[in-house]
Amino acid sequence: MKIHEYQAKEIFSEFSIPVPKGQLAHDAKEAKRIAEEIGGGLWVIKAQIHAGGRGKGGGVRVAETLEAVAEIAEEMIGMTLVTPQTGPQGKRVTKVLVEEGVQIKEEFYVGVAVDRARQCPVLIASSEGGMGIEELAASHPERIVREWIDVGLGLPGFQARNLLFGMGLDAGLMRAGVGILTRLYRLFESSDCTLVEINPLVVTEDKQLVALDAKIEFDDNGLFRHKHLLELEDTEEQDPLDVEASRHRLNYIRMDGDLGIMVNGAGLAMATMDLIKQAGASPANFLDVGGGATTEMVTKGLEIILRDKNVRGILINIFGGILRCDVLARGVVEAASNVKIEVPVVVRLDGTNVEEGRNILGQSGLDFVVADSMADAAEKVRAIAVS
Ligand code: GDP
Ligand code: MN
Repeated sequence: MKIHEYQAKEIFSEFSIPVPKGQLAHDAKEAKRIAEEIGGGLWVIKAQIHAGGRGKGGGVRVAETLEAVAEIAEEMIGMTLVTPQTGPQGKRVTKVLVEEGVQIKEEFYVGVAVDRARQCPVLIASSEGGMGIEELAASHPERIVREWIDVGLGLPGFQARNLLFGMGLDAGLMRAGVGILTRLYRLFESSDCTLVEINPLVVTEDKQLVALDAKIEFDDNGLFRHKHLLELEDTEEQDPLDVEASRHRLNYIRMDGDLGIMVNGAGLAMATMDLIKQAGASPANFLDVGGGATTEMVTKGLEIILRDKNVRGILINIFGGILRCDVLARGVVEAASNVKIEVPVVVRLDGTNVEEGRNILGQSGLDFVVADSMADAAEKVRAIAVS
């Protein structure tokens, strides 16, 4: 689960990681009032969307007067912000963070992530704060330093110092830096995060370390241990199809291909996606209706697949076990009578009550392409892919 920068900064504050003074605003008037409360003569207005690279897209702007704060907030709220991470369709801005402006002397990158290959957390740092760490890893890998963490030991002081010296932090700021890294790691570990990132971590003109940006991603599988974090979820930020699917307990992930799939069981879903790739097509989604799917869930699943305008064909691949083939077939027929299906649907069924399932499909009067094996399904998908 992703959260907004303003929420991540509230959590940083709870862990005593220094952040600029600031507050969330939903309109220009509120933005101006907040700026007035903060005081000073420099403010930053930051679009709150679940995507980075806002600086480049006009989602982070500096104001030197209260009037400018209001003007910028007025322009930003309601705009569709396009950044290198939002995709070309962009994201609509509904709220902004108004913060005290900071005089920057140096910008660093620090983050904690999961190193899947080494199966442990990794601390990452760089002297090139502000820019995308992915680009940097490609262009200047030598400017990134890493320390791998033994979860049993936590983060020992020497590893924190190694990292900070490696990224080129001034020796006079070492104690403050170690404090920030220690608390950053504690936050990562105690909240079951998959990513915590400060980009940039800045040294100000008056030699303070401040987290100017904040990003946190939580492991969804750990959220049940942190119920209070669930309140931070912003469903406006998610793909509407994903939200709809999770409401119906469907395990759905949208992707960018054009062949929709509906499968029961995650293993079969993976095999089906491989099969689609091998047939020269590309999956539009992952959809596992699960072992105990009902007719309603199958109907909903099919509806959700069809609402994706990229879908040119559908493959339903079910191994009837707990979910019997006749139940599935009834769901498909019902869905087909509720929503107009204008793309070819290939159905491959096997397992419990397979004959009954095929009969229901065959007698429905609907135009399904029935495949009688995985290999046959691949052939039929290939025909759609090349059409
Ligand atoms: P991102 O582009 O979405 O990662 O947004 P950031 O919060 O990282 O902001 C982008 C850039 O804006 C930062 O790298 C800074 O250079 C600049 N910026 C953000 N806040 C301030 C500030 O308070 N003062 C100044 N001078 N620049 C800032
Ligand atoms: Mn940033």
